[in-house]
Formats: sequence, structure tokens, C-alpha cells
Amino acid sequence: MTLATSLHSKYGSPILTSLPSGWCVPDWRWVAKNTNFVPLPSDWNDGNPDGDHILIHLDASVSLFAILEVIEQSPTRYPVNQIYGLSMRHKMLDPSRSLSAHSYGFAIDINWDTNPVGQRGDIPDWIVAAFEVHDWVWGGRWSVPDPMHFEYRGDT
Ligand SMILES: [Zn+2]
Repeated sequence: MTLATSLHSKYGSPILTSLPSGWCVPDWRWVAKNTNFVPLPSDWNDGNPDGDHILIHLDASVSLFAILEVIEQSPTRYPVNQIYGLSMRHKMLDPSRSLSAHSYGFAIDINWDTNPVGQRGDIPDWIVAAFEVHDWVWGGRWSVPDPMHFEYRGDT
């Protein structure tokens, strides 16, 4: 069972319809029932499309809050200039593929300018470890690396 299939059977569909572009029309009722605001440190807001918070699934939000605290308070600085979570779309914006984990609020992307798909990127090992200890997986370990991407698996 893929992650999207498992999330769909547990939480239902987060979208009303798929568009030919690969983006989807959100079901805002689903969003209101299933997601949570995670506030961001004030110096992270610059490149975040949603401003001073991100939206994430309720069941992933507690662990994400803890991880962001670790990143913010680490003496080893890693500036997070770009971050987002919930985003209603198919994988690789291909409508024939399943919904991205972002559509369920089970994934975040950080610093996409310096962590493009297919490269190693610049995410430090201590940040990967902070996610993995909370049952998030890192896209940087995949056969086609997606180093900007982390997704929560603690609930599936
Ligand atoms: Zn992603």
C-alpha cells in the first residue's frame, strides 16, 4: 500500500477535484478538520508562502513542532529561509500519479533553492537525525534524491 493510499483510507480525500495542471482544488472542510497551524520563528518568515506559520496535518504537528524547536535552538545554525507544508497537488504535478503527501499535510519542504531534486543539497546530518528520531523520512535518501522533502510516517 502506498503512503497516499494509506492516508486516503484513514483520513478521506483532502481535495474536491484534480486540475489538468496537477494542482488540486482543496476541500476546505477537510482542511479545517484535519490540519493545524505550526508557528514559525520570526526570522524564518521571509521565504514562506504562508507567512509566520505552516499548515500541517494534526497528527504530524506535535512532532514537527518539536523538530522545529531543535532546529531553531541548535548552536549549529542552519538558516531555514523557505518552508511550507500543506499543498494540494499530485506527485511531480502529474495528474496520473497519486496525491503528494503534501496534500494530506504529511510532508514539508525546506530551502528548495539549495536542495533541488536529484542533488545532495545542503541539509546537515543533525537536521536529518532530528526528523528521523520522530519517524519522519528524508527524501534525500531516495533513489532520486529529494533533499528539500521530509514526510511523516509515524502514523501510517
Ligand atoms: Zn516535498
